[in-house]
Amino acid sequence: MISAGGGNMSTYECSKCGMSVNATCGKCNAPLANDNLKVDGGKQVQISKCPNNHGKIKSPLCCGQDMACRT
Ligand SMILES: [Zn+2]
Ligand SMILES: [Zn+2]
Repeated sequence: MISAGGGNMSTYECSKCGMSVNATCGKCNAPLANDNLKVDGGKQVQISKCPNNHGKIKSPLCCGQDMACRT
């Protein structure tokens, strides 16, 4: 059994094919935090950002849809 305490890994999983991706910052290796960004038109975009402010990326796509993030 793996302890769940401590660092949360951002794991994105495709609900269609089951592929999963671990997202970490390339600069500090920290697991990216899940976040949402409001864009023009009131839409929300799911993003991942570095907790140390190294930047953010859009959540990965698989099978034509956003991959869902589990922490
Ligand atoms: Zn997929
Ligand atoms: Zn970072």
